[in-house]
Amino acid sequence: MLRLKNVTKTFGTQTALKDITTAFNDHETTVLVGPSGSGKSTLLRSLNLLERPESGTYDCDGIELDFAKKITKKETLAVRQKTEMVFQDYNLFPHLTVLKNVMEGPVHVLKEDKQTAKKRALELLDKVGLKQKADAYPNQLSGGQAQRVAIARSLAMRPRYILLDEPTSALDPELELEVLKVLLELANEKQSLIIVTHNLEFARHVADKILFIEDGQINFSGSKDDFFNSNDLRIKEFISAMT
Ligand code: ADP
Ligand code: MG
Repeated sequence: MLRLKNVTKTFGTQTALKDITTAFNDHETTVLVGPSGSGKSTLLRSLNLLERPESGTYDCDGIELDFAKKITKKETLAVRQKTEMVFQDYNLFPHLTVLKNVMEGPVHVLKEDKQTAKKRALELLDKVGLKQKADAYPNQLSGGQAQRVAIARSLAMRPRYILLDEPTSALDPELELEVLKVLLELANEKQSLIIVTHNLEFARHVADKILFIEDGQINFSGSKDDFFNSNDLRIKEFISAMT
């Protein structure tokens, strides 16, 4: 489980996260929604320590951190092994083939032997429907294919949680669909996912839990049914503006 307690993050005079207390369950999909600039990315990035809040505590599946104190390199690495981040713009290594992109982390970070890493990389590429692209380079892929490789690459690291920040917002609708199908499949397999998305239709399909974030605060945390049937005016307005 990932637990944040009283977490605050400011950028200059801007408070991006205001005293956030929440938890992310294992084997569930949590979807973060909310207006632009509300703090969704900051919250997600804090879970991976790409952002460093000033205060509050973080229990990352047993690794206990106090943001007010120094966080060691070892702790940072341990948190990053549990939480893999998938970015909107894929971040593949352009000079490596698709297969090598997926093998890179397992070989160099997890120290898996090359044969094992290759076998598993091919299995994961098969899972995301891209085994035939193993020898292609990233610039030969569509955006949807690149994002599916990025998902395979994150799975190769065997993280406990996969964090995805608007994974399909750079994609055309038909390419978006192929990525969402992969994520839905992972969710059905009970991979723990934490997803920031503007696609409420997708959230309605995939979410076990929804967090609605506004102005650095979590203004709703609960089931998707409760979210989509909410009588809260702000939530109703948000849903109707987004769909
Ligand atoms: P969201 O992902 O919901 O759009 P963000 O987490 O990116 O929101 O941003 C939350 C707030 O923090 C915004 O007001 C944004 O301008 C500010 N912010 C985010 N990152 C930075 C940064 N690196 N420097 C300064 N301000 C930032
Ligand atoms: Mg964002």
